[in-house]
Amino acid sequence: MPCVWLNLCEYDTQKLVKIKSVKLGSLKWTLNGVILMFICIMLLWNKGYQEYDLVVSSVTTKVKGVANINIPDIGEVVWDVVDHSGTSQGKNSFFVATNVIVTQNQKQGNCPEVPPYGKLCQKDKDCEKGFSDQYSHGVQTGVCVKFDAMKKTCEVSTWCPIENKKRPRPALLASAENFTVLIKNNIRFPAFNYIRRNILPEMKDTDLKGCIFNRYTNPYCPIFRLGDIVSEAKESFGEMAVEGGVFGIQINWDCDLNSIFHSCLPKYSFRRLDEKESNKTLYPGFNFRFARYSTVNGVEQRTLFKIYGIRFDVMVFGKAGKFSIIQLIIYIGSTLSYYALTTVFLDWLIGTSCYSKEAKQNYSERKFESVQDREECFLCVSFVDEDKLRVVKKSRKKTLQQTKPLSLHQRKNDLASMRTLISVMQSGPSRSLPVQNGQSGGLSTNTDTPLLEKPQSGCQDWCRCGCCPPAANLHEQLCCRLGKGRCITSCPIFSTLILSRSVLETALFYVDPLMELHEGAQLRYGAYAQFIRWRFGDSTPRDAVPVIPSCCMWRIRAEYPSPDGKYSGLRLHQATPSQAEFNAQ
Ligand code: ZN
Ligand code: ZN
Repeated sequence: MPCVWLNLCEYDTQKLVKIKSVKLGSLKWTLNGVILMFICIMLLWNKGYQEYDLVVSSVTTKVKGVANINIPDIGEVVWDVVDHSGTSQGKNSFFVATNVIVTQNQKQGNCPEVPPYGKLCQKDKDCEKGFSDQYSHGVQTGVCVKFDAMKKTCEVSTWCPIENKKRPRPALLASAENFTVLIKNNIRFPAFNYIRRNILPEMKDTDLKGCIFNRYTNPYCPIFRLGDIVSEAKESFGEMAVEGGVFGIQINWDCDLNSIFHSCLPKYSFRRLDEKESNKTLYPGFNFRFARYSTVNGVEQRTLFKIYGIRFDVMVFGKAGKFSIIQLIIYIGSTLSYYALTTVFLDWLIGTSCYSKEAKQNYSERKFESVQDREECFLCVSFVDEDKLRVVKKSRKKTLQQTKPLSLHQRKNDLASMRTLISVMQSGPSRSLPVQNGQSGGLSTNTDTPLLEKPQSGCQDWCRCGCCPPAANLHEQLCCRLGKGRCITSCPIFSTLILSRSVLETALFYVDPLMELHEGAQLRYGAYAQFIRWRFGDSTPRDAVPVIPSCCMWRIRAEYPSPDGKYSGLRLHQATPSQAEFNAQ
């Protein structure tokens, strides 16, 4: 049973409509071809068939170069790599000094603070002993001393003399642009267990000694001239050298590890990482201080260097791809939905009448099947004095007789089967009037169930023929006529076609020749079906439920009554679409 509850025993599949049209067919295949081409191009372009892994890398650098510099107050000095590269700046980066301020022979002592860090003073009272803040060069002694001919500042206890020079322009080490750096980059793609370095296997020692990186002539040489790097990023080394800065060297590995298209080469690019327009930024450039200490006559001295320079950060990016059947299947799966675009487009095209009006109507009739919910129950009414069928929505307030029709439809009489039936009747043995069964005339047989026995015909306000008994349900309050007049049950054809036992038997055997007739109910249902075939034709419009007028229904019931006097009444939904199995009323 859970199988039934959970719909496990069911499979739903979609119903398709095949349109035989050369135009639509060729359009469909053209669109599908375009989509297939797009998918293939994207597959090759994005390498959707590959599985990827990201790079793991290590970088080491070695700067080389010697410069002759002229430091104010000191004179000409030659700086080599130890002097200008300073201490290591950390992983994946190197530093090159480009400008310097040197303050020689500093000793511990008292000297005037340098404006603008120390405030100007007139008397000792203006200075506070022991005071210092983050801008101070030392701790105040509480004395106001002469700084120069014009100004007096507070005296501080510190390394004297205090550094008091502006950074030189042009930069003292501007010639550092001729320095070179060798960058060694080892990479690894763990997923493919692939190792490589930017000094390519085919390079020889002699190649490396003379080479300098050039994007066009020597793009894989791992030795770079600093000036070239900076100018590649459209910056001026001379300008950058004054205040220093931060520069990025990007190495991008985009590797294809498939054996046919194998390629795994580094691609270098360069750009400045710090703020370029130094006059618009606070604290521009890059600098730090360091000191060299010495002892002269037992007194400790130091030489203070404020170094400006460029820090080069080497950044390594990369991914490697290799063919993977799983990735290919996933890619193909993800693109299948594109084919739905063809359907969407063609449906839209047919839906708009710009394709063909007839095709649109034909197609929508076949494609869309409207099904009414049980609440939206439509009934079909046929009046004897009106030649069209009425489709009526079931009303909760009005009798069926008075409900206004939603639409009127031409009756489609099934004349062929009716003709067959009549010819059978004519040649058959019996043309007699109804042979009543055992409980015939059953108007008063079921006195114990008075509510269910045939009510007395009276004058119902909705009845026009004068033969309709009262009915409890609004949807059963229906007369055979629209206007006043004779009841349909009084016509001879009604007796012959609907009530005659031989005709009903013929009709039943016509449908099922081996049927066993043993109940009055079979004949009653047969009579209902016969009435509906006669008055409504073979099918009702919009699948509406045909309703037999009250006078006719009770006339049939009187002819073929139920033994217990119970009738199930009108079913408001069609159990089966076939009207032969018609609503048992
Ligand atoms: Zn009536
Ligand atoms: Zn009637």
